[in-house]
Amino acid sequence: MSDKKDKILSVRGITRDYVSSGGLFGKSETVHAIKGIDFDLYRGETLALVGESGCGKSTLARILTLIDAQTSGELIIRDKPINIAKNKISREMRSRIQIVFQNPYGSLNPRQKVGAVLEEPLKINFPEMPAEERRKKAMDMLKKVGLLPEHFGRYPHMFSGGQRQRIAIGRALMLNPRILVLDEPVSALDLSIQAQILNLLKDLQDEFNLSYLFISHDLSVVKYLADRVMVMYFGEIVEHGDRDQIFNDPQHDYTKTLLAATPKTSIESIRARVSRHKASA
Ligand code: ADP
Ligand code: MG
Repeated sequence: MSDKKDKILSVRGITRDYVSSGGLFGKSETVHAIKGIDFDLYRGETLALVGESGCGKSTLARILTLIDAQTSGELIIRDKPINIAKNKISREMRSRIQIVFQNPYGSLNPRQKVGAVLEEPLKINFPEMPAEERRKKAMDMLKKVGLLPEHFGRYPHMFSGGQRQRIAIGRALMLNPRILVLDEPVSALDLSIQAQILNLLKDLQDEFNLSYLFISHDLSVVKYLADRVMVMYFGEIVEHGDRDQIFNDPQHDYTKTLLAATPKTSIESIRARVSRHKASA
């Protein structure tokens, strides 16, 4: 699975502050959303980022996917430090890391048919590509994410939540990224649908040799999918280790608290659901 030698992303000392204006008479206030984050991501692995709501997970996700700039620290891709506030980012660099959000409906344009949703990244990044080729690539992707050719001309509202997340995953893969940042990708879905999407993610990872940064507050999902786990608490990584170490021998008090708050049955049940789904697939 994961080849430890092939490092594809390094994060060094990344911070992000948000400064609020404080209103008419109020003093401006600074929120240190994330503080000094360090980690490496290797080819083909799933690194999970867990922590409760508001701890800074999405802030980090936006920085990694070049949507937002860090306040300080370095993002290093192929030995090159990247900072969108300072460097001009090439099309190739932007396409390397893509994101999938929690709410597939919010991230899809309701007025765009599925075919157009999938074709859009190609249209923007490869304007010279012939329409026929673009259409074929989108059709191929539709199949890879488990949808049907007749879905090509339908609108997002005509799909279920799980199908919409398939569309969002397909769109994220259209530019052949190396890395997918998955920000709570199954949190809004019914449990049985979660298992299907997790299986799809596993299959796509194998097919494309993708690296995942998988963000979740749900440890049962993380236990199923992750190779390594980072635990975030108030903007800092307080524990970082292989999945089995984190689950069997947690070191930090916060990790222990998180584990204690996750019923064993939910870990068992997601595994059962996933294997049941596999058997019937
Ligand atoms: P998570 O994804 O773990 O729930 P976020 O990264 O969304 O956490 O938020 C981390 C902290 O940063 C929170 O305190 C949040 O209120 C604050 N924050 C996030 N985005 C902004 C923003 N655009 N402006 C001001 N504060 C923000
Ligand atoms: Mg979030």
